[in-house]
Amino acid sequence: MSDYISKNDAMQAIFNVDCHSDEHIAIREEAMAAIDCMPAADVAPVVPARWDEDGCCSKCGSDPAMLLNAYQSGLDLSEANYCPNCGARMGCPLVEREEQAND
Ligand SMILES: [Zn+2]
Repeated sequence: MSDYISKNDAMQAIFNVDCHSDEHIAIREEAMAAIDCMPAADVAPVVPARWDEDGCCSKCGSDPAMLLNAYQSGLDLSEANYCPNCGARMGCPLVEREEQAND
């Protein structure tokens, strides 16, 4: 799986490197220009969430079973990895760590 980073963050990190000579400054500018020329990937940030005790999304509050008319069809969405309403990712380790820190 690829790791994605912001072009602006990468360029800022390179810009923040101390350069003590004209040669180093030129290399830094070349590195920043090289990153700036790279094509950007079409990615969206992961929105972490979890299913609450009522089976609703902790991010948007929607009940996916109601949303997808799953009660009539018998479809079990309790283990779904993503909220069908807002796209939040369920069971994300970030949410679990935040909840453990708050306990
Ligand atoms: Zn949601």
